[in-house]
Amino acid sequence: MSKTLQAIRGMRDILPNEMTTFHTVEAGIRELMHGYHYQEIRLPVLESTELFKRSVGEETDIVGKEMYSFLSRSDEPMTLRPEGTAGCMRAGIEHGLFYNQTQKFWYLGPMFRYERPQKGRYRQFQQWGVEAVGIEGHQIELEMILLGARLWQILGITDKIQLQVNSLGSPACRQHYRALLQKHFHQARDQLNEAELQRLARNPLRLLDSKNPALAELIASAPRLDMHMSNEAKAHFAALTQALTEMGISFVHNPHLVRGLDYYQHTVFEWVTEALGAQNAVAAGGRYDGLIEQLGGQPSSAVGFAMGVERVAALLKEDSIPKVMPDVAVFAVDNDIAVQVQAWTESLRDALGLSWSITMDHQGGSHKNQSKRADKLGARASLLIDKDAWEAKAAPIKTVDGWVSVPLGKVAEWLRLNLTQEKV
Ligand code: ATP
Ligand code: MG
Repeated sequence: MSKTLQAIRGMRDILPNEMTTFHTVEAGIRELMHGYHYQEIRLPVLESTELFKRSVGEETDIVGKEMYSFLSRSDEPMTLRPEGTAGCMRAGIEHGLFYNQTQKFWYLGPMFRYERPQKGRYRQFQQWGVEAVGIEGHQIELEMILLGARLWQILGITDKIQLQVNSLGSPACRQHYRALLQKHFHQARDQLNEAELQRLARNPLRLLDSKNPALAELIASAPRLDMHMSNEAKAHFAALTQALTEMGISFVHNPHLVRGLDYYQHTVFEWVTEALGAQNAVAAGGRYDGLIEQLGGQPSSAVGFAMGVERVAALLKEDSIPKVMPDVAVFAVDNDIAVQVQAWTESLRDALGLSWSITMDHQGGSHKNQSKRADKLGARASLLIDKDAWEAKAAPIKTVDGWVSVPLGKVAEWLRLNLTQEKV
């Protein structure tokens, strides 16, 4: 026998028994996005490598070491998208959607990052992303945070998720702060490993969220950005935190929250959980006003965030969502009436509509075996139609209340009347 093939490392199959959880999350997202009037946008998973270099930034972990990049057959450098903001902004600029107008977009789809796979960290994972373009001021940041808060509420996981916020200040504040940080960490250069030395040179802010315990003290004693921010940047952040307080949304100001992508400025935020071990980030985002111009568009304000669907699904799974059973299971007990029963089942589907989940069994076998399979399927009603029943134009129906025989022409009506308690 030849060797069986397996999925590529870090690429995860989402099996049918997990789908209910994913559907719950996705349905919550769609309901929420409708309710706040955000427009869905669907974007390619493949983009030019240049796009991510110019947006996410060459010195970031994502572009530096996590991208699936390759040359196309015509030697163009391309990349499986590691995140959605860059592509969304590229599309908006390309189609003139940001020209003198505001937009509120959302998307849901796979992202790809070459990371070390572990629980909650995959090489293909799904993100729900939200982007609002052309809106200044802290109110839109507040709206982004309210979207997250309301989704946790819809999904019943509010008490598992906490909000952290921070401000990176304006690009000018950040430039000034960068130099201060370099000076601070430089004096302890010998405590830094190779990667950290690189960060120190290229992206010193990232040292602040380092998990290396040897750096803990240095990080704690590092200068704080909020002490070196312009008054304008301070006021912007204060307005947001005050609004959060007024609306009763609890948050922690984490001065070390810097985010791994270069395009952020002013407000950044992250929703974190303690329920998923090391993978504690559920969703994250912030303001990225400079990005559209950087990609060749008109200067424009922009705010957004992205949520990891697998991580939220994992939070839900702990509450174990029950398996969805079919409403009705139809068995043609005798093989020679199988097609007739299948045709009749189509008329049953016509009569009830597709909100009724009706499964048809095609495996044949003895009445006893089919009856056993019916019990295993757990449909609310099982119809075991054998030749005698077919000739008598009646369907033997089994429910929790036992057996009943119903004329074929009246089955739809009977099911509607007798199984309606939970069915709309
Ligand atoms: P982390 O700190 O876990 O690496 P990140 O800062 O790289 O996260 P973002 O780029 O902000 O993550 O992406 C937003 C969200 O996408 C994260 O909060 C997380 O829920 C999810 N996410 C990111 N990378 C992965 C991954 N490799 N597998 C599963 N989910 C992921
Ligand atoms: Mg990451």
